[in-house]
Order: sequence, then C-alpha cells, then structure tokens
Amino acid sequence: MAKVLCVLYPDPVTGYPPKYARDDIPVIARYPNGETVPTPKGPLGFRPGELVGCVSGELGLRAYLESHGHELVVTSDKDGADSTFDRHLVDADVVISQPFWPAYLTAERIAKARKLKLALTAGIGSDHVDLKAAAEHGITVAEETFSNSISVAEHVVMMVLALVRNHLPAHQYAVNGGWNIADCVSRSYDLEGMHFGTIGAGRIGLAVLRRLKPFDVKLHYHGRHRLAPEIEAELGLTYHDTPQSLVKACDVINLQMPLYPSTEGMFDDKMLALARRGAYLINTARGALCDRDAVVRALQSGQLAGYAGDVWFPQPAPVDHPWRTMPNQGMTPHMSGSSLSGQARYAAGTLEILECFFEGRPIRPEYLIVDGGNLAGTGAGSYQLS
Ligand code: NDP
Repeated sequence: MAKVLCVLYPDPVTGYPPKYARDDIPVIARYPNGETVPTPKGPLGFRPGELVGCVSGELGLRAYLESHGHELVVTSDKDGADSTFDRHLVDADVVISQPFWPAYLTAERIAKARKLKLALTAGIGSDHVDLKAAAEHGITVAEETFSNSISVAEHVVMMVLALVRNHLPAHQYAVNGGWNIADCVSRSYDLEGMHFGTIGAGRIGLAVLRRLKPFDVKLHYHGRHRLAPEIEAELGLTYHDTPQSLVKACDVINLQMPLYPSTEGMFDDKMLALARRGAYLINTARGALCDRDAVVRALQSGQLAGYAGDVWFPQPAPVDHPWRTMPNQGMTPHMSGSSLSGQARYAAGTLEILECFFEGRPIRPEYLIVDGGNLAGTGAGSYQLS
C-alpha cells in the first residue's frame, strides 16, 4: 500500500461543485505533434469538463487509489514547516502537485521525504521540484507533457490582443458606466504589422506562433535549437541566436522557455532596456524568469506599454505583490493551463502515470523529467540541472 500526497488549489469560495457553464467539452484525441492524449486504462473518476483541479475534485483519483489499497491525502495547505503537506511528506511514496498551486519540493523537503519515489506534476513545468535533489535521491519526476499547452497558447493570444487593443481598461469603462472613447482608444493599436517574438518555441511557443500567423504579424523566435526549415518557411519566421537580438527587434515579446537556474531573472533592467519603447511583454511561463521590480519600473517609465501573464513568484502571490497593482497589466492568478479542458487531460494523464508506476510499466518518455538519477525524456531536452 502506498501513500499518495496530493496538493491542489482550494475549492471555489462559492462551494463545490460549481454550476457549470457548459455541459461538455470537445473530445480531442491527439496533440498537434501526433502524440495521443492520455490513455489510462481507467475508468476515469470524473466526467471530462468537471472541476477536478481543486481539493474536492481530487483529480478524480480517489476511487482508483482506494480500490487498489492505497491511501490518498489531499490538501491545499502546503507552505511552512507545520503545513499538512510537510506533516504527510515524511512517509509519502508519491507526491502530486500542480504548478498553479505548487508544493515546492526543495532539497530540504526531499531530504526529509525518505519514502518518496515519484513526484508527479499535474500539468506542465516541474521547476517547483529541486530536480537535482530529486535525481540524487532516485526520485522519478514526471508531468503530462502537452496536456495544457494549447490552453496556455490560447491565453497568450488573448493577452497579446488584450494589451495591444487596450481591452481591459476599455471594458472597465463600460462596467463603470462610462463612455469616454478617447480614453479607451488613446492606448489602443492594431496588432497587424507588428513584430511578435517568442523566446522558447516548443509546444506552447510554436502553437502561439501558428495562432498569430493569420493576424499578419511578423514572427520571430529564439530557442537553443532551430525549428525545422519547413516550419520556419511555413510561418515566415525570423530566428535570433540570442534573446537580446529578439528583444531589440520585437514589439510584442512572449516568454515560453522553462525556468531553471540559468533562465531565472533573464528579464532584468538590462534586458528590458534593450526593448523598443512601448514594447509589450507576455509571460505565461514562470514568474521568476523576470526580475519582479524591473518589470514594475519598466511599466512605470513607459519602457513597457504592457505586461500580462498568469505566473508569479511565489505562488500564491502575496496580497501586496506589486504585479497586482502595477499599471497597464493584464495579470491573473495562475489559471491559463487549468481550464476545465486542460484539467480533463492532465487529470487523465496523472491517472495514466500512476497506473504505470504501480503496475511497474514504463512511463511514456514524453512524460519523464527525471528518472534513474538524471534528466530523462522531455526533461533531458527542456531542463538543465544547474
Ligand atoms: P517545451 O519544452 O515544449 O518548450 C520549451 C522551449 O523552450 C523549448 O523549445 C526549448 O528550446 C526552449 N528553451 C529552453 N531553454 C531555453 C533558453 N535558455 N532560451 C530559449 N529557449 C529555451 O515546453 P512547453 O512549451 O510545453 O512549456 C513551456 C513552459 O511553459 C513550461 O516550462 C512551463 O514553465 C510553462 N507552462 C505554463 C503553464 C501555465 O499554466 N501558465 C502551463 C504549461 C506550461 P530548445 O529545444 O531549443 O532547447
């Protein structure tokens, strides 16, 4: 019998389950690269479209785990040495956490988790786990690659348009009973003809480029490796061999690379000073890719015309986090990858990985981040241990 410790975000303040806006979600069988969506043996412990990412939703795992004799502990209490998470971590075999409400698995916590064998991310992005410490302790780290990539890509496109068109302040005018069109449009531009660039053109970054192509923008990217020539030709992409080169060339800059030690704080005063005055910065990758206060300064001075995204550090962000109140921004809590559609896929993927783990079957390589004491699968391509 194993103990599975699952950290999820709290239930809706209005109670659980919510009243759903729609009765179902579209059935998606494959991702854009041809990989299949999660295929657990099942049955699924939820109906796709239900809110399973919060505590009462339990990722739909309880029936599966308990019917196989395992113990499931679900909590949102994750921070501090006397948290429920810390108390149960000492004898947990499996930890499940989400980037939206991350249970930070630091080296200190990993050292205390003597039985831990699997750290599973329900979603994408395992930077809340100290990957080096996990590798050293022989812990497998896995996530559901691609499960919410399109969810995030759609959010990026929405934020690009919201910032450039000045949608959020204009909407607020309408809500507040106003009609001052001059105020609404004095910061409103067309995206058409602008230069858009993404740093990191992996699953999400490339999906964003593809979605923006019909807007007649000029598309740029920077990555550690170049995309296939046919993709560059299809999208008319300009490749930059440094992030600095891309930043100088673009009106809208999107961050879509993973967070690891050498990308942390990449967008600091120096990098932001290279941007065109009035550039827009979108970040749905990780908050710590940016220097928090440098972003605030750039918005206040007008060096940035706008900043939007859903990722912060730490999470949840404290109530006095300056990104909540800085000007010309479209911040939300970390939600882009946790749409009900995305949840259905990452919850099914979590079940698939657990089934593999408990039955001694291999976990799909695309789901692996760390395995056998080193980066593995997707993790070997995306992360660095230092
Ligand atoms: P991928 O691994 O598919 O893509 C990441 C890309 O970043 C790769 O193409 C990689 O390129 C590139 N990259 C890595 N290091 C660098 C670097 N130093 N400079 C420039 N590019 C780099 O991941 P996804 O697209 O699926 O996800 C990207 C990130 O988005 C995740 O790591 C996560 O942090 C975040 N995310 C956020 C979510 C949300 O809800 N807001 C949900 C899901 C993910 P190369 O091949 O050249 O190394």
